[in-house]
Amino acid sequence: NLRGMAEKTLFQKIMDRELPGEIIYEDDRCVALRDINPQAPTHVLIVPRKPIPSLDDLTEEDAPLVGHLFVVARKVAEQEGLDRGYRTVFNNGPDANQTVDHLHLHLLGGRRMGWPPG
Ligand code: 5GP
Repeated sequence: NLRGMAEKTLFQKIMDRELPGEIIYEDDRCVALRDINPQAPTHVLIVPRKPIPSLDDLTEEDAPLVGHLFVVARKVAEQEGLDRGYRTVFNNGPDANQTVDHLHLHLLGGRRMGWPPG
């Protein structure tokens, strides 16, 4: 565990099958799971196995990993049949309502979305 003795994050516990979660895709670097409180017909979280707390903690060495999260978002969007489009979001910090301190890319689709987001 990259955080040594630190507590596992909620998403680490789901990835380690210590807590239930509907995982719809996984590979060596990330998992994709359905959000427990979906804000659209498709609402999937793409979570790196590395427990980076937020965008504020990113370093240049994480750049390929973050790119990979978007490639997975695109694959999941295709798998979910989101042919009319979709939105990807990183919430960062309190003003953006980040609630879980483990980086995750939201993939939302299946309905028309407003802009700007509320
Ligand atoms: P944030 O607000 O940090 O950007 O996103 C956290 C997301 O995790 C929220 O959309 C919330 O609904 C989701 N979430 C919180 N707890 C759980 C859980 O136990 N399981 C799953 N699948 N999603 C969760």
